[in-house]
Amino acid sequence: MLYPQEFDVIVVGGGHAGTEAALAAARMGCKTLLLSHNIETLGQMSCNPSIGGIGKGHLVKEVDALGGAMGLATDEGGIQFRILNSSKGPAVRATRAQADRILYKAAIRQRLENQPNLWLFQQAVDDLMVEGKRVVGAVTQVGIRFRARTVVLTAGTFLDGKIHVGLNNYAAGRAGDPPAVTLSARLKELKLPQGRLKTGTPPRIDGRSIDFSKCTEQPGDGVPGGLPGPVPVFSFMGKASMHPQQMPCWITHTNARTHDIIRSGFDRSPMFTGKIEGIGPRYCPSVEDKINRFADKDSHQIFLEPEGLTTHEYYPNGISTSLPFDIQYDLVRSMVGLENAHILRPGYAIEYDYFDPRSLKSSFETRQIEGLFFAGQINGTTGYEEAAAQGLFAGINAALQCRGEAAWLPRRDEAYLGVLVDDLITKGVTEPYRMFTSRAEFRLQLREDNADMRLTEAGRRMGLVDDERWAAFSRKQEAVSRETERLRGTWVNPRNLPAAESERVLGKSIEHEYNLADLLRRPDVSYTALMSLDGGKYLPVASEAAPTAVLPEVLGDLYEPVVEQIEIAAKYSGYIDRQRDEVQRAAHYENLRLPPELDYGQVTALSFEVRQKLSKHRPETLGLASRISGVTPAAISLLMIHLKKGG
Ligand code: FAD
Repeated sequence: MLYPQEFDVIVVGGGHAGTEAALAAARMGCKTLLLSHNIETLGQMSCNPSIGGIGKGHLVKEVDALGGAMGLATDEGGIQFRILNSSKGPAVRATRAQADRILYKAAIRQRLENQPNLWLFQQAVDDLMVEGKRVVGAVTQVGIRFRARTVVLTAGTFLDGKIHVGLNNYAAGRAGDPPAVTLSARLKELKLPQGRLKTGTPPRIDGRSIDFSKCTEQPGDGVPGGLPGPVPVFSFMGKASMHPQQMPCWITHTNARTHDIIRSGFDRSPMFTGKIEGIGPRYCPSVEDKINRFADKDSHQIFLEPEGLTTHEYYPNGISTSLPFDIQYDLVRSMVGLENAHILRPGYAIEYDYFDPRSLKSSFETRQIEGLFFAGQINGTTGYEEAAAQGLFAGINAALQCRGEAAWLPRRDEAYLGVLVDDLITKGVTEPYRMFTSRAEFRLQLREDNADMRLTEAGRRMGLVDDERWAAFSRKQEAVSRETERLRGTWVNPRNLPAAESERVLGKSIEHEYNLADLLRRPDVSYTALMSLDGGKYLPVASEAAPTAVLPEVLGDLYEPVVEQIEIAAKYSGYIDRQRDEVQRAAHYENLRLPPELDYGQVTALSFEVRQKLSKHRPETLGLASRISGVTPAAISLLMIHLKKGG
């Protein structure tokens, strides 16, 4: 049957990529259909119900700044929040939350069901409708044909998915869900370049069988025993009052006996016996991989993380494994506190198809089939946050294409999203890709705290940001810029600042005239201390002209974030300016477009290897070319000369 209505955007897959893609396209006014195996699993977390962490938290803040769902859903479902690297510089500080998986899923579903322009439909997609070089829709398992102008495919780990536990294996998309075998075969027929990757998950444990008295408690921030201060929030629109009850995590360790048990299972490990062909993430290895590779380590820390408020299930973070179940059983019970542990679900590894992201345009549209976009784990990444960011990006670009507008392409110096997309389409992946702050060369300006300052305006322009968020953002932006100006224009000198006051706040008396912005640059001077100078003489005053004066009673929840922006901008201004200069230098060639018809074989000044690489990848700009591995800065200079000569 041909479904009677036609859509602008069809999103296939209701995981983290698919839900953000569908919400984004619908927010932008496109008639959107989200097709997924099962409405009950929309927004499901396949592995640990935790969101954020270093690099990943940055992506969540960016998704949120663009009006996405992940940040707010985490605020509504988060049962433990922490700021990682809180004692380090702001560029690497990152929010991490443990979520209640049921509450998180409910928060996502509630948003999907209430989003105007968005239709949900439960069915497996088995085929794509392609006419000429263009996708025109999708066909479901029972033969319903949905027509659309664009399709975003976000099938996660489901394409030809195969689960391994020891030497046993079976077809599945993840434990408890069917694989997408027919669609995988169809994509192979369409000759889209693909490969196999794998990921894994640990056995889950019944908390009633854990002896927590033998484990070390790890409370979240802002709760008794944790770091002082408010409980952190993820969304720029979030409030700690949205959080449900907070819970601690716990820590135990592997030991010499655990390691012996693990080694005794190597001969039945699907990884070591060659049963698994796909490559797994190096930085998130299975426990057997850790014991094998780091044989000299006699213990590893294991976090016991609650999966929710209404379940006893615990996630033992650090023992992801595909060893046979008898080995899993013994290794779990060899650890302190877990002597009587009952396993609720076995750990497993899953292999699945992914598609080489180097075959995507910079908008994530496939080069081979017009109107078809890929996002999420299907592009060789791992992680909910990476998936959500890509989904949002692909949803935006599918919607822009429907509106006849140019693609939105954030640069590497604007967003981690820019780094993620650029890395994927230029370098491809050799193992599941996850975000780290070290991947961003301009990370001083790509902080969690300023994701809204970097992206919300663009989001508003595209129709992604609602009035409430826009109003809050505008107030914050106005308060930051007015106050920054006021600090720059307010002067103190030895005559108008009593020496005792200067010594109390600045540590010594001042010899010259300074403006308050200069004083705030000093590492040990806080904004609050500065405002206490001389009995609060320099506090901003709320007036008709400055209604958003930086006062807690005026700004309410916005006060802390505004002060944070002012302080970071002052303290890191030197570094930030230097990085901005670098960005400007790089921008010189970053956006220089390479003619699509350019015959690299004729650019004989380039080495044969570089010519081959450029011919294969056909980068759209000189900036993209510069990031292909093996394309050296010298080669870029030669290419630039060639272009200038009109070659
Ligand atoms: P998914 O979340 O997999 O969602 C895919 C969606 O598409 C599902 O709703 C599915 O039903 C639907 N779907 C698929 N095919 C079809 C079809 N043909 N028709 C209709 N619907 C379809 N990440 C980490 O960061 N760290 C980890 O340690 C980690 N471990 C993992 C362990 C396991 C066992 C698994 C399965 C995943 C793990 N992940 C881990 C990865 C994380 O779950 C994914 O990166 C993330 O969920 C990817 O999001 P996605 O939206 O791309 O796909």
